[in-house]
Amino acid sequence: MSSSERKFDVVIVGAGVGGSAAAWYLSRMGYSVALVDSKPWNRVGDKPCGDAIGKHHFEELGIDPPRGEELDGLVKGILLYSPSEEVVLRIEGEGYEINRVKFTQRLIREAMDRGAEYFDSTNASQPIIEDGAVKGVIAVRNGRKIVFRSHAVIDSSGTSRSIVRRLPSDWPINDPLKAEEAEIAFREIRELKEPIDEPEYIRIYVNSKIAPGGYWWNFPKSNTNLTNVGLGVQGGMGYDHPRTYMYKYILTRPEFKNSRPVEIGGALVPTRRPPYTMAWHGIMVVGDAGYAVNPIHGGGKGSAMLSAKAAAMAFDKAYESGDFSAKGLWLMNKLYIDFYGAKQASLDIFRIFLQHLSDDDIEFALRKRIMKESDLYETSSTGKINKRSISDKLSRLIAALGRPSLLFKLIVVADYMDKVRSLYSQYPDTPEGLRAWMSKLDELYESFRRSIFK
Ligand SMILES: Cc1cc2nc3c(=O)[nH]c(=O)nc-3n(C[C@H](O)[C@H](O)[C@H](O)COP(=O)(O)OP(=O)(O)OC[C@H]3O[C@@H](n4cnc5c(N)ncnc54)[C@H](O)[C@@H]3O)c2cc1C
Repeated sequence: MSSSERKFDVVIVGAGVGGSAAAWYLSRMGYSVALVDSKPWNRVGDKPCGDAIGKHHFEELGIDPPRGEELDGLVKGILLYSPSEEVVLRIEGEGYEINRVKFTQRLIREAMDRGAEYFDSTNASQPIIEDGAVKGVIAVRNGRKIVFRSHAVIDSSGTSRSIVRRLPSDWPINDPLKAEEAEIAFREIRELKEPIDEPEYIRIYVNSKIAPGGYWWNFPKSNTNLTNVGLGVQGGMGYDHPRTYMYKYILTRPEFKNSRPVEIGGALVPTRRPPYTMAWHGIMVVGDAGYAVNPIHGGGKGSAMLSAKAAAMAFDKAYESGDFSAKGLWLMNKLYIDFYGAKQASLDIFRIFLQHLSDDDIEFALRKRIMKESDLYETSSTGKINKRSISDKLSRLIAALGRPSLLFKLIVVADYMDKVRSLYSQYPDTPEGLRAWMSKLDELYESFRRSIFK
């Protein structure tokens, strides 16, 4: 096989929103960037997704929100349906149904205008490891081998984690995804015959018969007569593939009568805390490859771009000192924890709890407004449960309605969410402290499981 060698400051493997945003930030900082993706240009950014994203992310990112053909619809809020669908919570919050291909292409074009090089249809097959650090990747494009050399590699290859999973297993960045820490998600974009009421509200339905360990959704694309309908099912539990539930329970509903599929596909969604570290010697992980996803609703586009911003800022700092080791890139962890990771970890605790609740418990909690609209909004945006709001209801509800164990458990969960956030605020300042911190985190999770599932 013929071969060539190229040198860049950074090589980014994977041009989904995460990798493209990393190229966008790094090129703006003036670094030379190679962005590599196995897909051809016209399919870049095209992965099965619900396509919903909150408006607030763009303010945090400093990236212009989707516009023109990048926008499939405006979102005003979420309608959350209880298992019986008799209780519907309306959670206000602006966002978008995004055209993921057009939006990703915009990020890449802007990065290329600033000098980034984009290599489409290029498959990165392995890291180059020299002197105990990653020094680039080996890729293949149109049957030709390309050796990409760089100060640092960003693995943004999604759940395939193409580079990081090939690193030595004792590198703590290689923190594998357990099956039960992921949702197996499947969705179809469907052309509807009947218009949906209030198409600017995306719908989430919690029902363990239809979506065990997850939820199903109906996200109208209000600029069109299309809707994105799908579901996530917890992995590792022996449930059927989500497509089976979709055809049995969802597409048989009246709102989908005579609808036809326009796009079909599914993928894994990591729904857990961040890896122990998102940076090691010469390498960082962003987006799904770095589990940068909200563990409760599985939204990962905004957090993928936030992790990309953290990676770019960490690289910039490392470049100043010329130190691209774990120590030099360590700022990646500190920034991501601050931007999103601490909240993500505390929501992971909430996720573990929710996945063990019965539909009856969830129906009860929503019907009795144990967590009302404002509490749910607060929890999803801060990673905190409003304990006072729950305690206020506690004494009234215990006497009148039963289910004290559910209410007490919710208080315990809120405590552990605080403890996890607090532990993330003590994340070590250098890699030397990592092993001791990892033990504390593992112990905290163990203690949580013992308290809740005893
Ligand atoms: C069904 C479903 C619904 C979802 N709904 C939502 C939602 O509504 N809102 C939301 O915010 N999030 C949602 N998510 C999650 C969201 O899609 C992801 O978190 C997000 O797209 C992750 O972006 P990424 O850039 O990290 O990874 P990806 O988009 O997966 O991109 C990875 C890229 O890497 C490339 N690649 C992989 N291996 C290699 C290799 N060896 N060499 C070169 N290139 C490689 C791939 O071609 C791909 O382009 C959903 C996910 C699923 C599966």
